[in-house]
Amino acid sequence: MNQKVIFLANQSDAAVPPMPPAAADAADGNVRDRLQRPLHDLRISVTDRCNFRCVYCMPKEVFGKDYPFLPHAALLSFEEITRVARLFIAHGVEKIRLTGGEPLLRKDIETLIAQLAALRTRSGRPLDLTLTTNGALLAKKARALKEAGLARVTVSVDSLDDATFRRMNDADFPLAKVLQGIDAAHAVGLGPIKINMVVKRGMNDHEIVPMARRFKDTPFILRFIEYMDVGASNGWKMDEVVPSAEVVRRIDAELPLQPIAANYAGETAERWRYRDGGGEIGLISSVTRAFCRDCTRARLSTEGKLYTCLFATGGHDLRALLRGGASDDQIAATIGGIWRARADRYSELRADGGAGPAQKKIEMSYIGG
Ligand code: SAM
Ligand code: SF4
Ligand code: SF4
Repeated sequence: MNQKVIFLANQSDAAVPPMPPAAADAADGNVRDRLQRPLHDLRISVTDRCNFRCVYCMPKEVFGKDYPFLPHAALLSFEEITRVARLFIAHGVEKIRLTGGEPLLRKDIETLIAQLAALRTRSGRPLDLTLTTNGALLAKKARALKEAGLARVTVSVDSLDDATFRRMNDADFPLAKVLQGIDAAHAVGLGPIKINMVVKRGMNDHEIVPMARRFKDTPFILRFIEYMDVGASNGWKMDEVVPSAEVVRRIDAELPLQPIAANYAGETAERWRYRDGGGEIGLISSVTRAFCRDCTRARLSTEGKLYTCLFATGGHDLRALLRGGASDDQIAATIGGIWRARADRYSELRADGGAGPAQKKIEMSYIGG
């Protein structure tokens, strides 16, 4: 078992709250937290392992060959994940994103996708079922993912310059293979495909405009993500963050842009379109423009802990309930109670200078990005 995770679990896990009363939370019956935010999205981390060592996420010096990744028995099984997902859906979840670590490394991931794709939302619709991947295995797996029922994918690409790309993934992985993966996903209809670029000043910010140019006039939606202070190992510094406003300014100077409305309340990305009709881009400004008030996301870690914020220092152990004989009603009530007690708004507090610097944060590769 992962020593680091045991430490975190023992030191800082919040106690699972007592069973809450089974009261309706809103007119639609969906659960709401203390800031009146519904539970709409569930991100499920299916593995804490990855074949990349992105400098901003799993730096090699920390995630070396002796790093204590979780043993297989600690991971939620596909049946456990599907059971929990069904109980989250009962509280109003409509969107599920599989993530990690690198989700395509999880053996037989298609089997899990098929199980999740068979679930229906409270209103009887198919889930919005998606997956975030580094794209390394996408060319090989795209067809099987589609056939299993995956709706679409988001692929992380931090640079179009092969040398920069390899430097950022720090696994010497070639860009061309990821681009082949994107094409394969597009060919089988896993769209609309989003491309995520984490911008780190001095590392790949010179690639902002080339990336915009490359994905303009294509069916792919490029999203620029501000480099975040997630986890405790990436040595984050504010001056390495390129604010979204600067990203927009730099692109707009060459490819004129105008803002457009969000698709729905709670959308993480701010949207801009090219004035010449060449498509749109998204900006995810977790550092400079916190969007906590609209945050409707819960995260289920690889070993079944529920986190109500990316920056939480502790999770709630659902695996213990799953493996301890709890009924569906008991687990659903526990999930509801945890969400009702939620008041997280780390990014807003950070922006106000109020987020505690001494917090021991969980790594993104474990909690799920
Ligand atoms: N391995 C998959 C991938 O890279 O797409 C999925 C997991 S990854 C943790 C999910 C997303 O988080 C990726 O788009 C990645 O670029 C982003 N990410 C990781 N560390 C980050 C950081 N420090 N700041 C901002 N985004 C980060
Ligand atoms: Fe792996 Fe994704 Fe983290 Fe990169 S961002 S190290 S691909 S989990
Ligand atoms: Fe949501 Fe926490 Fe991020 Fe705020 S800091 S947007 S509450 S995950």
